[in-house]
Amino acid sequence: MALPADLAARSALSRICTRCSISLRREGLISNGSSLAFQLQRRKLGSRTKQVRHDQQHIPSLAARHFSSSVVRAGFRPSNSLQNESKRVLAPDDLFHSFTNSPIPEIRRRAALMRQHAPCPHPDHRPGGPMAPAHVDFECPDCGIPVYCSKEHWADDYEAHLEICDTLRQINEDDHDLRSGRFFPEFEYAGPQLEEAMVNMSNWDTFLYTREFNAINADRSMRQVTRLLTYPITIGSVLHELSPYNIKAGGRLTAEGLKSFSALRYTLHPPKRGVGTDIKSLRVSPPPVRVFVLGARAESSLPRDAWIQLAHLFPRAKIHLILIGPEAMVNRDNEFPLPPRTPQNPFGAIVEDRVWHTMKISTIVDYYHTIHKTGYFYPYDPYFDCFVLFHPGLGHPASSHEWEETLPMLLETKVPILATGYTQTDMERDVEWVRKTTGGEFDMLLEPGENIFRSLRWDLYDMDPQDISAGNWGLWAFRGKRYEATHKSSE
Ligand SMILES: [Zn+2]
Ligand SMILES: [Zn+2]
Repeated sequence: MALPADLAARSALSRICTRCSISLRREGLISNGSSLAFQLQRRKLGSRTKQVRHDQQHIPSLAARHFSSSVVRAGFRPSNSLQNESKRVLAPDDLFHSFTNSPIPEIRRRAALMRQHAPCPHPDHRPGGPMAPAHVDFECPDCGIPVYCSKEHWADDYEAHLEICDTLRQINEDDHDLRSGRFFPEFEYAGPQLEEAMVNMSNWDTFLYTREFNAINADRSMRQVTRLLTYPITIGSVLHELSPYNIKAGGRLTAEGLKSFSALRYTLHPPKRGVGTDIKSLRVSPPPVRVFVLGARAESSLPRDAWIQLAHLFPRAKIHLILIGPEAMVNRDNEFPLPPRTPQNPFGAIVEDRVWHTMKISTIVDYYHTIHKTGYFYPYDPYFDCFVLFHPGLGHPASSHEWEETLPMLLETKVPILATGYTQTDMERDVEWVRKTTGGEFDMLLEPGENIFRSLRWDLYDMDPQDISAGNWGLWAFRGKRYEATHKSSE
């Protein structure tokens, strides 16, 4: 790769979204009144995924306008602002700053935005309360984030604020760290896994250690590095034969889950090939495992180094990562226009062949259900396919209607569906929605709970600094109900 890994990772980190704040953090956007209005409206509508309207999705200039700023061929290139900042501007012991008076212009702009839009959480502003809603204007001296409309309300509600003040301060420092211009050795990822070395997926520490990452000693570095690696490793942690999820009590894997993931593991961990050259030891190379990431957004512009970490977990298998969603090219402006749609490439996929010798990445800017209906990916095979939904907002009042059409299609394939949520509430709302929408006609594969490989870094939502979340905080998995056992016994 042409660019130092740390630049690429830093760039990706500064862009990666937690909900729609991704776009609000973007300088191009903030200086552009109309698209800001669009984004705000969008946030009101709901979070994430398939918010770009169907009729707009192929108009690159539109997407580029909303998500302009910078970046990217395949998400590798650091933005100009980051390049300019690549000289050290903040010392390691100088990371805490008032957002409003931050030495980093981008952070000052975020503070201004909060003051314009974030509501004061003091109970007096509640409907029926003595005061009308008000925007935040007072910055807490301890976390440096504008959190209340006035010093009085901050002081009066101090106990409630105290619950999040430390985390907010950590976010403040992490955001400044990312833009400090320091070198990030933690983004030098580990290479291929030695065949005989066993990866230990008990937690981030054992994982990074057994994968022979550079020792990461600082909590802050751990937070930055896990913010990106959470995407590939969350998938890997479920599919891998050494998965930390199991059917023991508290292991969260269900019997159905064991069946489903055993099928995939059969393909992902093939026996070593015979070394002989005679006919007997010749083996047809199996097709790649297809990992469909639906509603893909920020994850599609992750540095490829990060995605390759998924390939390294399965050194003897081939993986085809397919990123699908109307916003799958967000942050990748330089790759527009998309390839033409041809009979050979009917959905204009951008194919990055061999980002690693066992991994290929395709990106398709379209709704999954549109493609599903054409049978393009047919047939689906539980031994070779799985779906991943990062923070899909299935149950979010504004986005759930967009999943209504997709869900039955996913269930019909009987292929496992991995899903994550930003917070416990976010995840539980999704689970509940699936329960309700399917009338219980699905098999839980992995019980919902905290993701062992969640991002250790917290993020705040600029439109409401009370709203703190972590990338892939929660994780669960399900699939369409299978009845074969019953059928067989009744035959
Ligand atoms: Zn107030
Ligand atoms: Zn505070």
